Amino acid sequence: MDFRAFHPPLRTLMGPGPSDVPHRILEALGRPTIGHLDPAFVDLMDEVKTLLQYVMQTQNELTMPISAPGSAGMEACFVNLVEPGDKVIVCQNGVFGGRMKENVERCGAEAIMVQDAWGSAVDPQKLEDALIANPEATTVAFVHAETSTGAQSDAQVLVELAHRHNCLAIVDAVTSLAGSPLKVDEWEIDAIYSGTQKCLSCVPGISPVSFSERAQHRIRNRRRKVQSWFLDMNLIMGYWGQGAKRAYHHTAPVNAIYALHEALLMVHEEGLENAWERHRRNHDALRAGLEAMGLGFIVDEAHRLPQLNAVSIPAGVDDAAVRTRLLREHHLEIGAGLGDLAGKVWRIGLMGYSSRIENITACLGALDAVLTDMGAPINHGVALPAAEKVLAAA
Ligand SMILES: *Cc1c(COP(=O)(O)O)cnc(C)c1O
Repeated sequence: MDFRAFHPPLRTLMGPGPSDVPHRILEALGRPTIGHLDPAFVDLMDEVKTLLQYVMQTQNELTMPISAPGSAGMEACFVNLVEPGDKVIVCQNGVFGGRMKENVERCGAEAIMVQDAWGSAVDPQKLEDALIANPEATTVAFVHAETSTGAQSDAQVLVELAHRHNCLAIVDAVTSLAGSPLKVDEWEIDAIYSGTQKCLSCVPGISPVSFSERAQHRIRNRRRKVQSWFLDMNLIMGYWGQGAKRAYHHTAPVNAIYALHEALLMVHEEGLENAWERHRRNHDALRAGLEAMGLGFIVDEAHRLPQLNAVSIPAGVDDAAVRTRLLREHHLEIGAGLGDLAGKVWRIGLMGYSSRIENITACLGALDAVLTDMGAPINHGVALPAAEKVLAAA
């Protein structure tokens, strides 16, 4: 056998994550590894927490990165806040709400599902009806930015409803964090989790989480131990907690934390509001190009995410063939449809460092070339000028 070092092809990542990782962050990843209890690393951990508090807009003391991907952040929120026999209301409008249901059931609790069509936002009225019908519910969970459809829900309104009915709110912000407005304290979110590989443009594999005072109170007063040893926040706090002497819990992914720190620094330097605004402006440009080409969005304008654009695949066009050609000929990755939307939509991500003008023009140019060559019913040669007109006006 002839084994060689792996050198990945250079790609432009415009799918649902991971997004393009800037050189600056990859460079941070390659710095020398030090011990995870080294005083220099402990200082870095404190700074990561402070920067995460800024990016999440929260003063929550219990704010930290979980050493595993977004799915582990999701699981951390459920296993810490839900106990066997609890009733949890899960609002589902795409793939990730379905995973929340799985988590609830694996905690031995009952999931009350509130369903909305894929591509729609969560309907607050349906949540309120479910809260009234289930007064013993303890928790409400929903996805702020549904990456499977490109729809965003009104987190502030949904959390307020949960609180009015004495429930805590768990919010999935994997795709929203740093890409569109998210204010943990102002919106009084109790438990939130995100991921590093979407709008933070960091390497995959870490999940920032934050828990409010109310959530911490519930965690401290559980009837029984958290079923997961690794994700038990009571134990993790011994390692990540401020002030207290750090005790070994697990070995932090030291180099990945360097990368996360660099990613958070980049958001801080740009300014969080400026990052939100960049995502919105670039979405407007991409959208003008796609619409000029004749491609339509599946989410109505009021609920569209700027960082995840789900567009309908024109009739008669072979979904997989287009994506294969984009990758082979243009080194461009866009996302396929998930679940009910498989084969029906493309998901074009403009997340974090991928939300750049050169990516927009590359994507529109490549799509125009491939679709035109395949004889697809699109308007040729008009996408780029339409996008550029929007960018020039901004
Ligand atoms: C990507 C994503 C996740 C899962 O994150 P991983 O890092 O892939 O585990 C969860 N929720 C949403 C909304 C996502 O987009």
